[in-house]
Amino acid sequence: MRKNLIDRTTSAKLFEEAKKYFPGGVNSPVRAFKSVSGPPLFIKKGEGCRITDEDNNVYIDFCCSWGPLILGHNNEAVRNYVTETVAKGTSFGTPTRLGNELGKMILENHAYIEKMRFVSSGTEAVMSALRLARGYTGKSKIIKFEGCYHGHVDALLVKAGSGLATFGVSTSAGVPEAVAGDTIVLPLDNDALLKEILEKYADDIAAVILEPIPANNGLLLQRPCWLKDLRELTRKLNILLIFDEVISGFRVSFEGAAGNYVIQPDILTYGKIIGGGMPVGAYAASAEIMSHIAPEGDVYQAGTLSANPVAMAAGFATCQQLLRPGFYENLESKTTNFISRILNYSGKKGYEISIPQAGSIFWFAFTREKITRADQIQSESMDKFKILHHELLQRGVYLGPSGYEVGFVSAAHTEADLEEAAQKICDCLDIVFR
Ligand SMILES: *Cc1c(COP(=O)(O)O)cnc(C)c1O
Repeated sequence: MRKNLIDRTTSAKLFEEAKKYFPGGVNSPVRAFKSVSGPPLFIKKGEGCRITDEDNNVYIDFCCSWGPLILGHNNEAVRNYVTETVAKGTSFGTPTRLGNELGKMILENHAYIEKMRFVSSGTEAVMSALRLARGYTGKSKIIKFEGCYHGHVDALLVKAGSGLATFGVSTSAGVPEAVAGDTIVLPLDNDALLKEILEKYADDIAAVILEPIPANNGLLLQRPCWLKDLRELTRKLNILLIFDEVISGFRVSFEGAAGNYVIQPDILTYGKIIGGGMPVGAYAASAEIMSHIAPEGDVYQAGTLSANPVAMAAGFATCQQLLRPGFYENLESKTTNFISRILNYSGKKGYEISIPQAGSIFWFAFTREKITRADQIQSESMDKFKILHHELLQRGVYLGPSGYEVGFVSAAHTEADLEEAAQKICDCLDIVFR
C-alpha cells in the first residue's frame, strides 16, 4: 500500500453518523463502498468534471451521479434555469408550460416516439411501462435478460432459476414468488433460445424488456443483428418490445440506442439524463399505445411531483445543449482518445484488459475476451478493480465504487482532464498488474 493515503477523516465520521439514520448508512446500496476499500466519500461540491469531498480532496469524476450529468457538474445554463424557475415556486400539481416545452423538444427530436409521460425516476418509468404493456396486450408474462438492470421493480428483481431458460426466482426478499414467476429470464446474445422461448410462450408474453446497450453489469455490447432479430420476432408474435434507455437515452445520441441501431421498439423508458440531475423519468411510445394511459385509457399511472417545473427546467436546459450540432460526435471522440491512451499503454505492457465503449460510456474489463453476456464476467476481475479504484482515489480520480459499473465522460471533461486521468489510470494499472 502506498504511503500518504488521502485523508478521509471527515467522510469516515459522517459515514458513522449516517449509519445511525440509514440502513448501511446510505440511501442507495452501491454508495456504501462495500466492494471497494475505505468509507464512502461524502461529496460536498461539483464543478465541471471535478468533485470535492468533505475532506477537501478533489477528484476527476467518471461516475457523474451514475450518468445524469452528461454536461458535468453545476452546468451554468442548467443552474440558471433551475434557480430562475425555483424562485417562482417548486411544484403546483398542475400542468405547466415547462412540461410542454420539454415534452415538445424531446418528441420533435426523436423519430420513434409520439407521446410520453413524465415520472420521477427510472424505476417508476419501467414499472409504468410494464403495466402499460400488460394493459395493452392483455397478457401478463415479461421476458428480461440476465445482466440487464431496470431499477428496483418487483417483477424485474429476478434471476433465472435452474436450467437455461426458466421462470424467474426473486433476487430480493420481499418479492413474492408469484410476481417473480411471471418473469422469464434469458441470457443475452443467444438467438436459438430466445426464438424457442418466445414462440413457446407467445400467447402469455406481454413484453420483452432490455437495455439495448446493457450498461449496469459491465458494458455488454450486443450484436445489432441480434437486436434486429429480437425486434422482428417480437413484432411477428404480437409481443411488445421495451427498450429501457434510462442510461443509453440522450447518452449515446439524442435518440439513444434506438436511434443508433435504427430499431423502433414499442415502448421506451428514460431517466438519468432526461432530468439533468433532477429526479425525472419518462416512458414514451406511439400515440396509439400511449392512448391506453389514464385519463385517455384504462391503464392507471399518476405522480404527485411528476413534471414539476424545477425538474422540467433542469431537463430542458440540459436537452437543449445536447441538440447542438456536433455535441455527441465531440463527446464520443474525446472518449475514444481517452480509452486509446490507456489501451496503447496496457497493450505495450501486455496487461489483460479491454475497455468496451458506447459513445461516452466505458468499462474496464479485466480480460481480452469480448463480453456480451453477464456470465462471462469473472468475479476475480473485481479484485483487480478494487485495487484500481483505491489507487485512483489516491491520485484524484473517482470511478463508481463497483467493478460492474460503467464510467461516463461528460462534456465538461476537457482533453487535458482526460489526458491527466488516462496517465493516472496507466500508473495505477502498473500497480494492479504488479
Ligand atoms: C438507473 C437505471 C434504472 C433505474 O433508474 P432510477 O432512477 O435509479 O430508479 C432503470 N433502468 C436502467 C437501464 C438504469 O440504468
